[in-house]
Amino acid sequence: MDSLTAFATAKLDSLAAASLRRNIVHTAREPGVVVERGGKRYLSFSCNDYLNFSHHPAILAAAREALDRYGAGSGGSRLVTGDHPLYGALEERLARLKGAEAACVFGSGYLTNTGVIPALVGPDDLIVIDELAHACLFAGAQMSRARLCVFRHNDLAHAEELLATHRAAHRHALMLTDGVFSMDGDLAPLPALGRLARAHDAWLMADDAHGIGVIGGGRGSTYAHDEPADVPLQMGTLSKAIGAYGGYLCATRPVIELMKSRARTLVYSTGLPPSVVASAVAALDLIEADPSLAEGPLASARLFTRRVGLPDPQSPIVPVVVGDTDAALAASRMLADEGFLVVAIRPPTVPPGTARLRLTFTPAHPEKEIERLADLIRGRVLGNVS
Ligand SMILES: *Cc1c(COP(=O)(O)O)cnc(C)c1O
Repeated sequence: MDSLTAFATAKLDSLAAASLRRNIVHTAREPGVVVERGGKRYLSFSCNDYLNFSHHPAILAAAREALDRYGAGSGGSRLVTGDHPLYGALEERLARLKGAEAACVFGSGYLTNTGVIPALVGPDDLIVIDELAHACLFAGAQMSRARLCVFRHNDLAHAEELLATHRAAHRHALMLTDGVFSMDGDLAPLPALGRLARAHDAWLMADDAHGIGVIGGGRGSTYAHDEPADVPLQMGTLSKAIGAYGGYLCATRPVIELMKSRARTLVYSTGLPPSVVASAVAALDLIEADPSLAEGPLASARLFTRRVGLPDPQSPIVPVVVGDTDAALAASRMLADEGFLVVAIRPPTVPPGTARLRLTFTPAHPEKEIERLADLIRGRVLGNVS
C-alpha cells in the first residue's frame, strides 16, 4: 500500500475504534418532514429546514423562474460577472429584516465566517470567542492569525476578564458568539455582550444561523431579548430556516463595502446560482409578510419538552444529552426502528462526554408523532441515563 492510502486507512481505523468514524447516508427529503433512507421512510427530527421552506410552492416557483431566466450557474465571482440582478433584492431584504444599513451575501455560512473574520482582524488584534461557538467561527478566527482567547460558555464575567486583561495590548478586538447555539439550542446573552463589547471597544459578531426566521419574530437572535441587542456584525445562513443556500453579513455600509473588496471567500469564489438567490428572496418575503410564522417551530419544540419534562426551549433546537457516544448511537438506532430520524451528535462536534440526540422541530411535525417520540425518549433514553 502506498503511504497516502496507508495513512488514510490507519486514520479511519483509529476513528472507528473511538466510534468517531462518520458515514454519509443518502437521504431523499420529501415535502414536509419525511425522509427516505436505505429504502425506508422516516419522520425527520434532524433537518434544519425549520419552516419547511425547502419545498414551499411559492419558493420553488421563484427558483424555477430564475433558473429559466438566468441559467443554472452564475458564471463567475460576484466581482466579475456573477452578480446577477437578484443579489440586490436579496441584500436589500436581509438588511431590512436585520435593521442594518447594508448586507453582503456569500456562498455559504461557512464561507461568510472564514471570509469576514480575516478581513477585519489580523496578527495585531484580539479575538474573544465563546467556547461553544460554531466550528466555522473558530476556523475564521484561526485564519485571521489574531490572538485567540476562549471564554466559558455564555460566561459574561469570564469574557470581561479576558477583555480587561488583553484588550489594551491589541489594536482591534472582535468578540464572536453564536446567537443561538447550534448543538444546545440556547441563546447567547446578546444585549449584555453588546454592552460589554462597546465598553471595551470590541466588535461583536453574532452567528445567527439558527435564529433568522425562527426567533425574534423571524428577525433572529438580535431581536429575541427584552431589548434589541447592539450587534454591529450580524451574520447568518440562508441554508436553514430560509430553506435555500448561502450566507450573509449585515453591518454598516462601509463594513459591507470593505467585505466586497477584501473578503477572500467572496472575491475568489463563484457567486451563488440565480435560482438559489431567488429562493432566498421568496423565503424572506414570506417571513417579512407574516412574523407569526416564526412561532411554529418553537411551538412544536415546546410540545416536546413539556411532554418529556425538559425546560421550555429557547429555539427549535432541543438537545437530549446522553453522554456516552455508543449510548447516543444506540438511542438513535432505537428511534430509527420506531420510524424517527434523530441523528446522534458526537465529539468533536460536541465536547467529550456530551454525545447527544439533537432534535429540531418544525410546524409540519404532527402533534401525535411529537408525543410518541417524547414518550420513547422519556421512557427508553432518559430512563437509562444516570
Ligand atoms: C450551519 C451553521 C453554519 C454554516 O452555515 P452553512 O451555510 O451551512 O455553511 C455557521 N454557523 C452556525 C452556527 C451553523 O449552525
